[in-house]
Parts: sequence; C-alpha cells; structure tokens
Amino acid sequence: MEFAEFAERAGTIEELSADTDIIEAVTDLLASANDDLEVLARFVQGRMFPAWDSTTLDIGPNLCYAAIARAAGQNVSANDVEDRLAEMGDIGAVASSYEFGGQQGLAAFGAGRAELTVAEVADELEALAHTEGPGSQDTKIDILFGLFNRTSSQEALYLARLVLSEMRIGVGEGTVRDAITGAFDVPVETVERALQVSNDYGRVARVARDEGESGLDELQLEVGRPVQAMLAQAGTVTDALEDWNRAGIEWKFDGARVQIHYDEDDVSIFSRNMEEVTDALPEIVEYTEENLDVSAIIDGEVVAMNDGEPLPFQEVLRRFRRKHDVARAREEVAVELRAFDCLHADGDDLLTAPLTERHDRLQSILSGGVSALTVTDDTDDIADIEANALDAGHEGIMLKNPDSTYSPGRRGKNWLKRKPDVETLDLVVTGAEWGEGRRASFLGTFLLSARDENGEFETLGKVATGITDEALAELTELLEPYISTQSGQVVDISPNVVFEVGYEEIQQSPTYSAGYALRFPRFLGVRDDKSPDDADSLERVIRLAKSQ
Ligand code: AMP
Repeated sequence: MEFAEFAERAGTIEELSADTDIIEAVTDLLASANDDLEVLARFVQGRMFPAWDSTTLDIGPNLCYAAIARAAGQNVSANDVEDRLAEMGDIGAVASSYEFGGQQGLAAFGAGRAELTVAEVADELEALAHTEGPGSQDTKIDILFGLFNRTSSQEALYLARLVLSEMRIGVGEGTVRDAITGAFDVPVETVERALQVSNDYGRVARVARDEGESGLDELQLEVGRPVQAMLAQAGTVTDALEDWNRAGIEWKFDGARVQIHYDEDDVSIFSRNMEEVTDALPEIVEYTEENLDVSAIIDGEVVAMNDGEPLPFQEVLRRFRRKHDVARAREEVAVELRAFDCLHADGDDLLTAPLTERHDRLQSILSGGVSALTVTDDTDDIADIEANALDAGHEGIMLKNPDSTYSPGRRGKNWLKRKPDVETLDLVVTGAEWGEGRRASFLGTFLLSARDENGEFETLGKVATGITDEALAELTELLEPYISTQSGQVVDISPNVVFEVGYEEIQQSPTYSAGYALRFPRFLGVRDDKSPDDADSLERVIRLAKSQ
C-alpha cells in the first residue's frame, strides 16, 4: 500500500466519532492490507514494533524537529519548528504546514521518484531503530529527513505522529481487536486470547487472515516475550468472601513488578510496562539461575531490603532505571524477589489454570522467594496476615480468587488490593465470651455497642480479631471487674471500657440490636482516654453507614 493511501485512511478515521464507524474503517484497512497487514495493524495504533518488543525508535522530539526543519528548507531551523509546535500543539499539524520535497542531499535521492510505500516507511524506521554508536544521531536525522522529504502534506502529518508514537486518530487496542475479528471472520474471544499470549497485533492479524481460528488457537506464550501483567482493583475482605466464599491471601509487597523469563539458558526480566530491565537487576538474574531449573515465566515483585525491612519502592524503581555502575548500585540497594505467580512452566502454558494450581507449580519449580498464599474463609486469619504484612513494613494484603485464571492486562475482580480502613470507631464493650482451649482463661470475643439518643447501648458487632495473646491477658484483667452477669461462656459487661475498632463496612443487619453490623471489625486499641460518654454515638454510626 502506498503511504499516501494509509495517510488518507488515517485522515478519514480521525474525522469519525462513533466507535462503530471507526471499527468499520479499520476493518476495511486491514482487509485491504495485503502484504502490509502486520505493519498496518501496528501503524494504525501509532506503533512501530510489537508490544512485546522493547525496541524503540528512540527519537527525541528535538531530532524530529531537526529532520522536519531540514526537509522544510534552508530558512527553517529546528527552533522554528519548535515555535510552530508551541503555537499549533500538534507535531503532525506542524509537519504538514511545511512544503517538503525540494531539498537535495545524500538521503534525498528519492525525492521526486516513486511514491513512498508503507513497507518502505516501515523498513526505514526499522533501520533507524537499529542505528547505534557514534554518529547515530546524524544518521537518524538523515533517515527521517529522507522520509519527510518525500511526503505530501497529509503524509507528513501522519509520519510525524507515527515517529513520535502519538497517532491521535482514536484507534486503541480494542478497536484493532474488533477490526481483526470483523475483517477475518474469527471469534473475538479467540482473537483476545491470541493477543494475550503473543502481545503482537500484527502477528495476530496475519494469523487470523492466513490460518483462521485454528491458527490463532495454536499461538502460545513464548519464553522471552513479555505478556501484560494481570492487575488488581481495590476491594474488601467482605467483597472477597461474599463472591468466592474463601480467598487466597498474600502480602502486598512494597516493591516493583517484574516478569521473569527463563529458557534454561538465559534470564530476561521485564518491568510492569514490559520494558527490559535484565541488566539493571543482576542479583535477580543470579537468583533465578540458581533456583530455577526449568523454562518458566514468573510474575512477582522485586523488593529492596535493608535489615529485614523493605525500603520505599522508589528505591527499587531507581535500581530499574540504572544503566551504569550497576555493581555500585547493587551494593547501595540490594533487591530480592518475591514471586507470586507462574504463567508458564517447563513447556506448559498455565494462563487458564486456577490460581492455586499456578501457585503450587511455582513452589515446585522455584526454591525460595515465593509468596505464601493462604486460602481461607476465616477473617481472624486474614486480619493476622494483614497485621504481619504491615508489621514487616509491607503495604497490606492482596485478596485473590483461588479459582481464577491469569488474565493479562486486566484490572479485574479476581485480584483485590484491600482498601485501608477509612474511619475508625470508638465503641463501648458491653459483653464478651470466654475463650476456648489455650485461651480458656481469657475473654476472647468482645461485644461492641454505641449509645442511642435515649442513652441506651445498642449492639452492632463483635470483635475477636487483631488481638495478640498478650493483649488478651491485659484486656481480661481490664474488663473482668465489670462483668455483671454470666451464662456459660457468655458474659455481660457494664459499659466502662472503650475500644477503637477498624472495619470495612457498616451494613444493615437484624443480628444486632442497633439494626446495623460492622463488617470485618478489628481491634486497634483501648481508648484509655475516653469514657463511654465520649464514645461514638449510634447516630454517627448510622451517618457513616449511609455515607458509604
Ligand atoms: P497497585 O499498584 O496499587 O495497583 O497494586 C497492584 C500491584 O501490587 C501489582 O501490580 C504488584 O506490583 C504489587 N503486588 C505486591 N504484592 C503482590 C502480590 N502478592 N500479588 C499481586 N501483586 C502484588
């Protein structure tokens, strides 16, 4: 396809506003792409390379201004281009505002010759991306100048935007996915899966056209090519237990995400944005080589540890960016791996295996450095894990659906990062239960109440969570003098002691006399400074419940 045709189609797409019209236009572009299909599936998104490929054009804006200035003629400088950009706000509009084509020079031999094709633009930009070493900046300007010098105004517009990876024609990944589906008559789920494993729109488009659904089904993960990371959304323990009946709980490590690929010879490490960071993290490379024997793709977090405490994640990110003096950086801030998922192991793709199976597999192939995953429906256990994570200086906990598959790039409901509590409540202890077994001599579960407008204490929950054995002994000593009546293990306590409690939600509930119940309540401390009169009123509790 001639580049002029691509530019014209891009111009048409830019004018459209309805999603369906844009999808139709991209479908048409892909259907008529012939040999240029792979390139066009990327160009239309303003991409030169597949998403898994960390090669970049590495063209800063200044280099682009210089090439445009040279193609625009002797009287135009890079500064003039920049000034015009400040006025117009779009590099495409700036490029198309000049008249190109009159300039001679080494790279201008093509001027006035045959029309520029899409394939030529792709080849030239590929050559540009691989230009390295001394003088490479000049070579890059030469190549770009050679291209601009052959463009019409509309071609210049989209070439400039392509070069700076900002196409701005309203075509996103979803548009191209739907266009591949429509152009080659393959199911959207099949295209989606193929995109997830290959991370390559061009290749998926070609396979869809040439080999159809069965060809797409055969695409697999490839060790060495990063896939998009699965993402989490904010959520609560209450949500997790309601939706899944039990949850997989892990520490939420305070570090930076990595995806590690090992093909039994080489290790490559990618950041959350799929940039390669292997050279910056030699200790993770060594760790992987020493502790992993089979080919694998592992998902995890890299943390910086200092005397057993994690350093702020910015320190880890600084290590990721470090290109020089890595050995020194390593001495200053050492990093460690906390692996939590496994996408591929020893020839098996695991994306569709349940979380628990993937985690078991991870433990079986990697000795050490694997997160502890606890599957439980017990809120006490969950609170304990959270308290330990916070004590260890990490961010809190992740709640994961134990049955869920790995969905690359998705911020779905299967991974939840527990929201920190917003407000705490100061509530009065009006009852308790004696513990069992080892804890039989301690009060264990505490009934919490708030005072209504008539001065009556109404119950709204029990707290048994977040209390250490040591604290139980102290609380028993504190509360025992106020026990008023006892029946079996259950005691009534006259209102004297105020607890500060955290919770996730307040729900209407017939279980307690207040008509409301705290979800996932946790003991935070005794408010020695407050008497029952200073504790929170039922009115405030109800106000909080309504404002959620
Ligand atoms: P956020 O960046 O706040 O959206 O939280 C999600 C991020 O938490 C992930 O992208 C990981 O980098 C990080 N993380 C830390 N520990 C875990 C874990 N156990 N499982 C999944 N993600 C984790």
